[in-house]
Formats: sequence, structure tokens, C-alpha cells
Amino acid sequence: MTAVTGRDLATLAQKIGAEVVAAAADRVDRDARFPAEAFAALRAERFLAAMVPEEFGGGGHSLSEIATVCQTLGRYCASTGMIYAMHQIQVACLIRHSRTSPFFQRFLHRLAEQELLLGSATTELGIGGDVRTSLCAVERQGDRFRLTKQAPVISYGLESDAILVTARRASDAASSDQVIVLLNKDDYRLTQTSGWDALGMRGTCSLGFTLEAEASVDQIVPQPYGEISSHTMLPTSHLLWASLWLGIASDAVARGRAFVRAEARRKPGTVPPSATRLADVVADLHAMRATVHNGLAEYERVMHDGDELSSLGFALRMNNIKVLASRAVADIVTAALGVTGIAGYKADSKFSLGRHLRDAHGASLMIANDRILAANAAMLLVQKDD
Ligand SMILES: Cc1cc2nc3c(=O)[nH]c(=O)nc-3n(C[C@H](O)[C@H](O)[C@H](O)COP(=O)(O)OP(=O)(O)OC[C@H]3O[C@@H](n4cnc5c(N)ncnc54)[C@H](O)[C@@H]3O)c2cc1C
Repeated sequence: MTAVTGRDLATLAQKIGAEVVAAAADRVDRDARFPAEAFAALRAERFLAAMVPEEFGGGGHSLSEIATVCQTLGRYCASTGMIYAMHQIQVACLIRHSRTSPFFQRFLHRLAEQELLLGSATTELGIGGDVRTSLCAVERQGDRFRLTKQAPVISYGLESDAILVTARRASDAASSDQVIVLLNKDDYRLTQTSGWDALGMRGTCSLGFTLEAEASVDQIVPQPYGEISSHTMLPTSHLLWASLWLGIASDAVARGRAFVRAEARRKPGTVPPSATRLADVVADLHAMRATVHNGLAEYERVMHDGDELSSLGFALRMNNIKVLASRAVADIVTAALGVTGIAGYKADSKFSLGRHLRDAHGASLMIANDRILAANAAMLLVQKDD
């Protein structure tokens, strides 16, 4: 198999989205099941290793290209888009922070060769979405370690080939002195503690687990998690999540637009009243798109500038993209429902917006906006005007 080139990635994502992802989206949502057919198609076209550098056998694609894929998948099935985004966030952390380690070099080769799917366990029982705090700890014994984490949510945990897990560096380390470790499927045991019969994002299969692991200390990512988080995990999460939310919002507006056109065709020579609402929501969609694209451009411009990535201004701007995009997606889908009226409210109509609306409301909860705004408030107290 050969790596897909830049232009092909967007075109292929569109083809897979329209032909495979769309066909399964309603069943994935109804049954709250993993979008297996979507990931079989993405694997067959080498999408899981698309961002892995070519020297490791991957596609070497940029974050912006991956964001376009998230947006495209999100249009057809938000759960598929979210799983793809979460996987790529873990890949971004590995390619930017672990490449000096022989273990991780071998792992990246294997990821590219076998199209491995990576999951994430940052959230922990007792600390909620505070990703910079861990209760569980890496307990070293010689060149091995043990780790037990009470994880209230690990999306597609049962389908993952490996999981990146945050933990305290050692059992006597402070809660913010964290590392991130890569656990292969053979290294851990998952005992399910909760199900995932959720309002939206049902195909992410975000079950709760007790994760018990034993692995080699080589599997601890060499750089401190604090740096991985601020330089890569948080900006990449906010930007890729925002991209797939942009996909949800775009499809909702497209359904609104199709509805208005159908109305116009039924009464030629008139502008349907819903067209004004459509114009309003299109303006909001354009503003959301500009926010997401500006954020991607900024991150790609500074992604190798450690000082800038560690600055309060950068952290604030990335946090704001998450807050703004998560609000925008729910507002835009709601406004699109105002365009379609009952046709969008019905579950069995081609203009249906029920799934979009339910999926959109997960956005503000994924690292709660209140938590992000509280962090921003603390930063604003000490940040000089920018
Ligand atoms: C679809 C989906 C998939 C997910 N997948 C994963 C995954 O694969 N792996 C993973 O680790 N996690 C995952 N998560 C978890 C997610 O990233 C958040 O960490 C989690 O949803 C937060 O949980 P919570 O709302 O219970 O807790 P909290 O973060 O505690 O928030 C609860 C509420 O408390 C309030 N609050 C709490 N702290 C503060 C504060 N400091 N300031 C102000 N208000 C505060 C807020 O009002 C907030 O809404 C997923 C979440 C979703 C929705």
C-alpha cells in the first residue's frame, strides 16, 4: 500500500464519508455502536497513519489536512469524526514528543504498518476533566511499572489497539507532576464500570473502565506531560474537535439550505420566509469557520516555537477556540432547526437535525467550558495586554 498524498486525502475523505460513513451513521447512533465500517474504509486507505511522518512509513500529512478530514467525517457522522480526531490527537503527541526514543520509533513504524487505533485515558474518577491532575501513579519496579486508573470515560476503549494514559510520575509525586504512558492492548486489562447510553456522540462508545496495566518503563513518553499538554495535546484537541464540530454545523446548514431551496421551488418567484433565517445562520457558520481556520493557521505557524507555545496568550487563544466553536455548533444547529421547522424536527425526514443537535451538545462538556473559562480567568489576571 502507498501513502495518500495531500490532495487525495481530502478527496478520499469526501468519498469515504459520502459512500460509507453516511450510510451507517443513523444505525451507529441508534445502536450506540462503534462505526466499524467507517474505520475499515479509513484503514484500507491508510487514514490512521496519515499524520505519521514518512520516515516511519506514514503519510506525512499536516494538521490542517487532518482537520479537513475531521470536518468531512463530522458532516456525515460526528462519532466517526470524533474518534478519528481523538486518535490523531494521540498521534500528534507521539510524533512531537517521543521520537528520540527507540521504543517509540519502533511503535510509530508499527502504527503506520498496522494502522493501529489509539485511545486516550486522561479523565479520572474524582478529578473530572482537569487534565493537568492525576490521582493514579506509575509504580516502578526495576525496568517495569504498574498502573491502575479509574477511568470514567475511555472512548472506543474496547476497539483501541493501544491507549495513552496520564498518571503521576511516581506514587510520591504531586498530582500535577504527570507523565503519559503508551499501553499496548497486551499490557492492560479493562474492566467495564459504566455504559454509554448517552444523549449524543453515541458511536464513540465512551464506556467507563478500571484500567490495570503492567509495562516496560520504555513506554513512558520521555518529555514531561505538562509540556506535551500545553504544546500539543490541548491545542490539537481544541483544533481537531472544533473542526469536526464545524462539520456538524456545516451539514446542519446544508440541510437548512436544501429545505429553503425546496420551498422556493414549490412557490416560484417568491423568497421563502425561512430564507432570511438561513442567511443569518450562514453568517454564523462563516464566523465559526474563520475562527477554526485562523486557529489552525496560528498553531501551524508557531508549532515549533517553544516560547510562544508556552505563552499565556497562546493558551488563551486556543482555549477560546474551543469555547467559541463548542457554543457555535450548538447555536448553529439550533438555528438550522428554525429554518427547517418540523421537517428538521422529525427523525424520518431527509432534513432531520435530531442527531446533529444531540451530538452538538457534547461539545461544551468535553473539558467543560466552565473549567476552561476558569483557567482563562486566572491567566487574564497575570497576562499583560496583547
Ligand atoms: C463524547 C465524549 C467522549 C469523551 N472521551 C474521552 C476519552 O476518550 N478519554 C478521556 O479521558 N475523557 C473523555 N471524555 C471526557 C471529557 O474530556 C471530560 O473530561 C469529561 O467529560 C468531564 O467530565 P465531567 O463533566 O463529569 O466533569 P467536570 O470536568 O468535573 O465538570 C462538571 C461540571 O463541573 C463544573 N466545574 C468543574 N470544575 C470546574 C472549575 N474548575 N471551574 C468551573 N466549573 C467547574 C462545570 O460546570 C462542569 O460542567 C469524553 C467526553 C465526551 C463528552
